[in-house]
Amino acid sequence: MRIVVPAGGIGAARFLRGLRAAVPEAEVTVVGNTGDDITLFGLRICPDLDTVMYTLGGGIAEEQGWGRAEETFVVQEELTAYGVEPAWFGLGDRDLATHVVRTQMLDAGYPLSEVTAALCARWEPGVRLLPMSDDRVETHVVIEDAGGRRAIHFQEYWVRHRASMPALEVVAVGADRSRPGPGVLDAIESADLVLLPPSNPVVSIGTILSVPGLRAAFEATSAPVVGLSPIVDGAPVRGMADQVLAAIGVDASAAAVALHYGPQLLDGWLVDRSDADAVPVVSEAGIACRAVPLLMRDIDASAAMARAALDLAAGLVRS
Ligand code: GDP
Ligand code: CA
Repeated sequence: MRIVVPAGGIGAARFLRGLRAAVPEAEVTVVGNTGDDITLFGLRICPDLDTVMYTLGGGIAEEQGWGRAEETFVVQEELTAYGVEPAWFGLGDRDLATHVVRTQMLDAGYPLSEVTAALCARWEPGVRLLPMSDDRVETHVVIEDAGGRRAIHFQEYWVRHRASMPALEVVAVGADRSRPGPGVLDAIESADLVLLPPSNPVVSIGTILSVPGLRAAFEATSAPVVGLSPIVDGAPVRGMADQVLAAIGVDASAAAVALHYGPQLLDGWLVDRSDADAVPVVSEAGIACRAVPLLMRDIDASAAMARAALDLAAGLVRS
């Protein structure tokens, strides 16, 4: 079975680990969000691609959910001692090696897709990890503070400011001119199943869908498309996704996110048991919906979620 999963960072990576455990024989292609990418200290950093790669490759800092296990921060401390900014982005020593390799390869002319494949040769994530695009797309957030109304990089909004002020607008800069990465459209077209993991609907999945041609491809594929809600009990799990949902006028509820994706894209939607009241609302809109446990406490719980998604998909005919 060929499964395609558009993916952000933590939510996607934990789900993918469960999916791999649930159907080890499946051929999984991940379409990774690159809108979070940023250049710091001359290094190209791809947080979502790395979170997926490290999580599936066994190198993730488990509790934290991003960055490397057994990490140290000597280089960052030395940079801070020089007064070199920014200090708000956690850059571990082990992690730095990844960014050095990536930047070197990009500077030598390799596209991000080939760089990602080279990095994955070490980590063997057990999935094909494809960047959504080889073209540069960077998510910016419009805020208003003492300095007036201005756009800042998504990482600055999310990591530095912890999404503490309203996001007035979210803009994927460069998306309109970007092209799907090599292999992405083919994978979607020839998929047997598309799963939308519980990733951020705006800055992860939304950014991927903003690459021209990708939303259309997900809507046109003959494979069923089943999503899992990142909103549990009316709030994002361990996150601040409600801030960016507000920017696009979508409530932080399991039903609202499903309706935002819409029946053109989604054939099925899983909500958490605590959001069972969303089931009739979502079903009414023409999206098959079930309530199951959606908290990824461990790999077993994530695998059970993957099986629930496969089960829902099995009963669906693509409309
Ligand atoms: P990011 O790029 O690292 O922010 O990761 P994603 O976009 O892939 O996922 C972030 C989303 O994952 C957040 O909005 C959370 O609501 C969601 N999430 C995290 N853990 C869980 C979980 O255990 N269950 C569910 N349903 N969603 C989760
Ligand atoms: Ca992300």
